[in-house]
This record gives sequence, C-alpha cells and structure tokens, in this order.
Amino acid sequence: MFHHGTNYVSESARSSASAAKSSAAQAKSQVDYLKTEVERLLMITEALWGFIKEQHDYEDQALFDKIIEIDAKDGKIDGRVAPKAPTKCPECTHVLPKKKPFCVYCGAKITKDCFER
Ligand SMILES: [Zn+2]
Repeated sequence: MFHHGTNYVSESARSSASAAKSSAAQAKSQVDYLKTEVERLLMITEALWGFIKEQHDYEDQALFDKIIEIDAKDGKIDGRVAPKAPTKCPECTHVLPKKKPFCVYCGAKITKDCFER
C-alpha cells in the first residue's frame, strides 16, 4: 500500500517533469522564432536607413540622435519607450483598450500614435 503510494507520487513527479520539459522546449522555440523575426526586422530597418542615408545625405549620427530623442520621450533614456497609461474615451469616458482605432463601448473613432506601446 505504502509502496503503491510512493509509486503514485513518483509517477506524478515524472509527469510534472515531463510537462515542464515540454513547456521549456516550447518557450525555447518561441524565443528562437522571435530572434529570427527581430533579426529580419533589423535587416529591413538597416536597408531602409541605407536608402534614406543615400538619398538624403544623412550621417549615422543623425539616426543615433533621433533614437535618443525617441527613447527620451517617456522621460528616461533607458533603451525603451514605456507603455502609456490607459486613456479614456473622450466621448463616453470608458477606459480605451489598446490597439483599437475606435471605442468598443460607444464606437467613437480614436486617433492614436501609430508607435504607441
Ligand atoms: Zn467611448
């Protein structure tokens, strides 16, 4: 009886370990996918900057300065732009969900910054 109980526990531990292993593998594959996507976006950004530089005579310093300007928008130069606090609908005052071009409560059209985090 006791032996049976011990087996049950170790069976359950084995199953938890296997589930943890599988979700770790899933997380790793998601990270790998994101790394590939970030690399692709960096290449696209670099290509676009290359066109702009060539056609408008910019130096890399201009891009660097612009990045610092954007970084500083939220009051801190820390390599990221902090997400904005949720805003309220100007028509019905419900808190607006992010990423929607309209209020889901009253349908008012909402104009937002395309780069809002
Ligand atoms: Zn509204």
